[in-house]
Amino acid sequence: MNQTIRNTQETNMNLHNTTRPGGPGPQELVPSRYALKIGEIDVMVISDGVLTLPGAMLAHNADPAVRAAWLKDMFLPPDAFDWALNVVVVHSGDQTILVDAGLGSDPDLHLPRAGQLSKRLEAAGIDLESVTDVVLTHMHMDHIGGLLVDEVKERLRPDLRIHVAAAEVAFWEAPDFSHVSMPPGFPDALRATAKRFAKEYHNQLRTFEDEHEVAPGVVVTRTGGHTPGHSVVRLASGGDRLTFAGDAVFTVGFHHPDWHNGFEHDPEEAARVRVRLLRELAANGELLVATHMPFPSTGRVAVDGDHFRWVPAFWDY
Ligand SMILES: [Zn+2]
Repeated sequence: MNQTIRNTQETNMNLHNTTRPGGPGPQELVPSRYALKIGEIDVMVISDGVLTLPGAMLAHNADPAVRAAWLKDMFLPPDAFDWALNVVVVHSGDQTILVDAGLGSDPDLHLPRAGQLSKRLEAAGIDLESVTDVVLTHMHMDHIGGLLVDEVKERLRPDLRIHVAAAEVAFWEAPDFSHVSMPPGFPDALRATAKRFAKEYHNQLRTFEDEHEVAPGVVVTRTGGHTPGHSVVRLASGGDRLTFAGDAVFTVGFHHPDWHNGFEHDPEEAARVRVRLLRELAANGELLVATHMPFPSTGRVAVDGDHFRWVPAFWDY
């Protein structure tokens, strides 16, 4: 493997690594972006923030004592789990592609630490006007909500293309929540947000069946499982490869790939998708980035029998 991880001053996205004195908005002490190159493709992971959710969301088919033991082993509190929320910006050829869009805002859900996307894009020197394509791994609110924030929609180009699996759009016309296990209020919020998104952006939607090449070396592939149209984005250039797995893989999924996440609409299929993907990534050694893995969510998968292990990439900057 020869993935070259470089800092962004070498890329053509014209990014700033330092805080900007006198710039707009509060300056943040913790970095919210991490850039790397996959061959000719520039990739930047950007944090939309953190979602604090009940610990039970990690697995509703697990013995609570086993779940509590996992959290304890990870030095985490027993009752709440902070989920990272990452999006990715990809620059390939003359296209700038935003993969997922973060939470946006919904005050009723009490998730004030997420929904930072527009501020953090700006801090990274990425203009919303420069985005030519959006790819959605699926239409849960924490992946589309950022597109519904007022100032975001106004600044996006009118000819923006939004790529999403046809099965995902169809699913949200009459979504099945019978196999999920979400906190109160979430199913209604997810339904309402997906509906609003489909209404506001139907002219921009470019649906695909199973696979679509969005830009040179940037392919979105439907996996199903988490939602019927859930998709992953695969980058390949110059012998380097990276997969953005969306919600196919969570932090707990390495130790317990068979645990059913509370947000999975078909949890058994989601577990099969997860194991298949982890085995493939372990075999080919490519980089993995996933929405809810701790920022900067960049690493590789090791496997020993039925046990997977997350191996974070060394920061190179
Ligand atoms: Zn998610």
